[in-house]
Amino acid sequence: MTTHYERIGKTITGQDADRMCLKKKQFRSRNEARDFAIRGQKRYQNAPMTAYKCAICGKWHNSQLNNIEGNMARRRVMQRGVK
Ligand SMILES: [Zn+2]
Repeated sequence: MTTHYERIGKTITGQDADRMCLKKKQFRSRNEARDFAIRGQKRYQNAPMTAYKCAICGKWHNSQLNNIEGNMARRRVMQRGVK
């Protein structure tokens, strides 16, 4: 997949977009994402997840990274750009 996404002045490769966005479940709000994560934890003993607003689709996703790790991972993607 070679599609690139241009949002907020950043270019994101298709591979990163897959990983950060397209292959993830979308939620309309932070509450929806958080409710889903909490249900998963209670029912399936899933790892705690952190909701984040997606720079690609503008919706919300859950990440198993905590906020700090997640922010660092997303910043690395944003800074890497397209070669
Ligand atoms: Zn997204």
